Formats: sequence, structure tokens, C-alpha cells
Amino acid sequence: MEQAIETKKGVEALLQKRPLIISGPCSAETEEQVVQTATRLAATGKVDILRAGIWKPRTRPGSFEGIGTKGLPWLQQAKKESGLPVAVEVATAKQVEDALHFGVDVLWIGARTTVNPFSVQDVADALKGADVPVLIKNPINPDLELWIGAVERVANAGIKNIGLIHRGFSSYGNTEYRNAPMWHLAIEMKRRNPGMLLINDPSHICGRRDILLDVAQKAIDLDFDGLIIESHIDPDNAWSDAKQQVTPERLGEMISSIVWRTEEIDSEELHAVMEKMRQQINQLDDELLQLIGQRMKVADKIGQYKKDNNITILQTNRWNAILERAYERGDKLGLSQEFITKYFDAVHMESINHQNKIMNS
Ligand code: PEP
Ligand code: MN
Repeated sequence: MEQAIETKKGVEALLQKRPLIISGPCSAETEEQVVQTATRLAATGKVDILRAGIWKPRTRPGSFEGIGTKGLPWLQQAKKESGLPVAVEVATAKQVEDALHFGVDVLWIGARTTVNPFSVQDVADALKGADVPVLIKNPINPDLELWIGAVERVANAGIKNIGLIHRGFSSYGNTEYRNAPMWHLAIEMKRRNPGMLLINDPSHICGRRDILLDVAQKAIDLDFDGLIIESHIDPDNAWSDAKQQVTPERLGEMISSIVWRTEEIDSEELHAVMEKMRQQINQLDDELLQLIGQRMKVADKIGQYKKDNNITILQTNRWNAILERAYERGDKLGLSQEFITKYFDAVHMESINHQNKIMNS
């Protein structure tokens, strides 16, 4: 019992480590596979916690749905041989009970569970009274409130140590990613939960090995606290998520090649240089706001004119012309089409709202 308490403290402290690196197979398949992955990961010296899926929620039946409870003793063995604490995904009350019974150190709630408040509540109820850290993946659909709701449910169950995993969001249609990162949602989640552990899961974002490192570096550049990356001793023959897994040795190389950055600005000189550029940015932002304010005043005027002459607010040809013009100019200024579209959509909507108010006053 005393030893169990010691480990608990150890894991709490470990979760404070920056960068925090979690790695291991998508799924536990055999005892040998789990133990070998764990010892080879530990040998890289880069990994803090071992992950392995025991119960696998699959989008469609027929693929490997996890080895189940019989894999939990394998994790105990892997921990014993590698010294790495273990993390497992839980989606039901029974899975929470089993995982805690077998001494799993860290639990995580998967993206297909976070979407369902009933499931999250079921897991949260089973967690009552347990002293275990819980990591919560973003829901598979891009809905920040669902992610926040899951955090609240787990916190209300009395869990003190909660962390976040950004694993990307499903979207219809093909992109280079399996699940689009939609970084702005992770950034907003971080803003709303300052100080809460936030790690990135490039494996499920990318769905393929070749771009894992790019996404991982991007996360670190955005001040994420760490990474969870899938690793398998024989990636091509993994029973799940074969395309995105890497060997433990490759994982070690990847972690070594990441440029680690810090949010802290410790030297006076760095501080002064940054401060100067930030003042320029603030100045420009003020000017932009002034200009947008002026633009909306013109929108008010044109709204009045349209009202007096019974002309519709939306003029599709005019809107197309505005966009075409902006793409051309934006391109010369090094602004992406994606940005121009978002920016003009926002400005156009604000302008429509202004005109709407005038027309209906
Ligand atoms: C996983 O981590 O293997 C997994 C199933 O992740 P997600 O819930 O993010 O799809
Ligand atoms: Mn996986």
C-alpha cells in the first residue's frame, strides 16, 4: 500500500515534467509486444509514460476492438520491466474499475467518448473517490463546449489532476490529415484553462508517419506541454493504426530532433527586443481597429441608402468582386487565401449586421 502511495506521488510529479512525453502502442496486442515496446521506449531515455489501448472504440465493427481486461496484467509487467508508469483509455464505468484494480497510473478519455455526455458522466461517476490523473482528449467533432463539459464532469467527480490532449477533429472530405488539427480550438482551450496540462497527439492528427514531426514541432512552437505519440515494435503489422506508428527507436530520434521552446523570456535583452516589436504590433492592431470602425460607418451610410431606395443588403456580384480583389492584393502581400476568406467573411458579416440594424430601425 505504501509503495502504491509512493507511485502516486511519483506520477503526480512526473506529470509536471516539461516536455512530458507519452508513448506506446495504439493497442496492446500480446504481452511480449507490450513489454518489448515499453523496454525499448524506456531505453531511449526520452519517454515518461507508457500508453497502450486495452479497449479500442472503432468507428466501424470488424476491426480489432482491443484485447480487453486480460491485457491489464501485461501493462503491470511492462511497468515492472521498464519502470514507466502506464496510461490507458477508459470509456465505461467497468473499464475504470478494471483499470484502477490493476493499478493503471493515468487514465485517458478518448475522442469518441468525449462527444457523449452520458458516457463521460458514467466514467466520471466511476472515478468518484479515485486518486488518479485523467487526461481528456478533445471530442472528435470540433465542439469546444463538449470538451469543456467533459473536463467539468471529471472535475465535479473530485479528480484533481486533469490534463488535456489535443488529437484533432474529424472533418468531411480529404485533407492531408486524418483529423484536422484546428489549432485555434486548442489555443482557445488553453486560454480557457490556464495552467492545465495540454499535450498534443500528432499520431491521430496525421494518421501517417511522414508528417508526425511537423505537427509535433508545431505544437511545441505553440507552447504545448508535451506529446503523446504511438509507437510499436513492428509498426506495419500493428493491429490498429498501423500507418501512423513508429518504432521506439524512431520515436527517440524524433523527440531528439524537436526544437524545444519555452514561453519564458528570461534575459533583459530578449525582453526589450520582444517588447519593442509587441508595441509595434499593438500600434498596428489599434490602427486596424480604427479603420474597421470607419469602414462600418460607411456600411451604416450605405445601409441607409439601400433602405431609402429599397435595395437588398446582400449584393452577390459585389461580394464576389470584393473577394476577387482581396485575393489578388492579399497574394502580393503574402497573405493566404484562407486568411483573406476568413477575414473578409468576418468583416462582411459585421457590415451586414450593421446594415440590418439600420434597415430595421
Ligand atoms: C487512441 O489513442 O488510440 C485513440 C483511439 O485515440 P482517439 O480517442 O483520439 O481517437
Ligand atoms: Mn490509435
